[in-house]
Amino acid sequence: KPVILWLRRDLRLADHPALTAAVAEGAPVIPVFIRDEQVEALGAAPRWRLERGLEVFARSLAARGSRLILRQGPAAEVLDALIAETGAGAVHWTRAYDPGARDRDGAIKSDLKARGIAARSFAGHLLFEPWTVSTGAGGFYRVFTPYWKAVRGRPVGPLLPPPEHLPAPDRWPASDALEDWQLGATMHRGAAVLARHTEAGEAAAQARLDRFCDAAIAQYQDRRDFPAEPVTSGLSEYLSLGEISPYRCWHQAQRQRDQLGGSGPETFLKELAWREFAYHLMFHSPHILTGNWRPEWDDFPWREDPGAADVLAWKQGRTGVVFVDAAMRELWVTGKMHNRARMIVASFLTKHLMTHWRVGQAWFEETLTDWDPASNAMGWQWAAGSGPDAAPYFRIFNPDTQLKRFDPDGAYARAWIAEGQKSPPETALDFFQAVPRRWRLAPGAPYPDPVIELGEGRKRALAAYESRKSMG
Ligand code: FAD
Repeated sequence: KPVILWLRRDLRLADHPALTAAVAEGAPVIPVFIRDEQVEALGAAPRWRLERGLEVFARSLAARGSRLILRQGPAAEVLDALIAETGAGAVHWTRAYDPGARDRDGAIKSDLKARGIAARSFAGHLLFEPWTVSTGAGGFYRVFTPYWKAVRGRPVGPLLPPPEHLPAPDRWPASDALEDWQLGATMHRGAAVLARHTEAGEAAAQARLDRFCDAAIAQYQDRRDFPAEPVTSGLSEYLSLGEISPYRCWHQAQRQRDQLGGSGPETFLKELAWREFAYHLMFHSPHILTGNWRPEWDDFPWREDPGAADVLAWKQGRTGVVFVDAAMRELWVTGKMHNRARMIVASFLTKHLMTHWRVGQAWFEETLTDWDPASNAMGWQWAAGSGPDAAPYFRIFNPDTQLKRFDPDGAYARAWIAEGQKSPPETALDFFQAVPRRWRLAPGAPYPDPVIELGEGRKRALAAYESRKSMG
C-alpha cells in the first residue's frame, strides 16, 4: 500500500527521517503538499518564498522519478481524499511545533489511527525535540545559558543520504498546478528585486553552508555583529522551510570546530541552539506568540497602531535614523535582515517609538522570507523587554552609537541609503525599485529628518517605564 508523505516545512531529500522511513517501506511514495489554513495564514513574503521552494523541490522529486502532488483545502479532508483515491495505508510527516499545527496534526493522527491508517510523525525540523530537554526540577528552560549547557553535548539526528529514486505509484493522483496557486500574488513588492536575493532549494542551501564553513565560520565569533560583512551563514530561510536540516548544519560546524578549533564554529553552534531555544519556549508556552511573556508588561502604555505616521516611517525605511532605515530597506530588498540590525529596529520601534512589539512582529511576519514563528516571537519579546531572558527595557540601544560601532566605515549605510550619494550602489537603488508606488519614495529626495530625536525618545520610553513601575 502506498505511503503518503505529507510535506510541510521539510522541502528536502537529505536528512529527512519521514521520507527515509517512507522509502524503506518498499511501497510507492506519494509526496503531497497541502495548501491549508496554515498556508493561507502566511504573510506575503513567506508565501512567495514558499512558492519558490515548492518549485525547486518539485523539480528535485521529478529528477528521482517522483512527483509533488499539490492539493488545497483542510488537511484532514485532503488526506482523506488522497487515501481514498490511492489506497494508501500510511501517512508520514515531519513534526511542527506551533500550536495551530500541533492541534491539526494531533486530530489527524488520532482520526487516521482510529481508521487503521498508520499515521507517523518524525523529527526533522529541530535538533532537540522540545519535550526532551528539561531542567533539574523537571520544567522547561526560560533562560538560554542553562539550556545551552543542557544541549550542547547531546547527539543530534543522523545525516541521511537523499534517496536515489522514490518508488512511484502506478497511477499518480491529480495535482493542482503551482502557477495556478499564485502564492506570491499578495506580495506588493518588487518581486524581481527580491528574486535576485533568493535562491531557493536544497542545493543552494548546501552550497551556502559549504561556503560559510570554508570562508566565514572562522571569523564568525569576531565579525558576526557587523552587518556589512558577509560573515553570517544566511541559512535562516533554508532552515525555515526545511530546505536544509539543522542536523547537517550542526554536524558540519562540529567538524569545522574539531578541525580548525577557534571559537567561530562553537559560536555558530550556539546560534543554532538559539533557534532550538525559541522552539522550546514556543512549545512549552505558546502564549509567547501572541502576548507578553511577562504579564506585568500588559499594563505598559504601548501604542499599538500599525498605521501611525511614525510606524509607517519605520516600515518604509524613512525614519531619518540611518541604522534603522538601512536595516528596513535591507529587509524590503532582500527579505532578510542582519541579526544586529533586527535588534536595533526592534528596540527603536518598541522603545523610541513606544510601539507594541506585536506591530513589529506582524510586519516581519509579512515581509521576511526567513520568517519563523518561534524565532520571530522570541526576538521581538527579547528586544521589547517583555520576554523570557530578555534585554531589560531600560537598556535602550542608541542606533547612532550602534552604527558607529558596528558600521565604522559606513559600508552598511551606503549599501542601503541612496539619498545623499552621488552614485549610490545598486542595492540602495533597488529599494526604490521594490517599493510600492503609493509609498511615494524617490532616491533623489532629501533624506528625511528623524521622526523622533533620539535623546527625547529615550527619555519618553524611560519615563513610561518608571511610571509603570510606580503604578505596579
Ligand atoms: P547566522 O548568524 O548564520 O545563524 C545561524 C542560524 O542560527 C540562523 O540561520 C538561525 O536559524 C539561528 N539563529 C541565529 N540567531 C538566532 C536568534 N537570535 N534567534 C533564533 N535563531 C537564531 N530568525 C529567523 O529565522 N526568522 C525570524 O522570523 C526571525 N525574526 C527575528 C526577529 C527579531 C526582532 C530578532 C532580534 C531576531 C529574529 N531572528 C529570526 C533571529 C536572527 O536574527 C536570524 O535567525 C538571523 O539573522 C539569520 O541570519 P543567518 O542565517 O545569517 O544567521
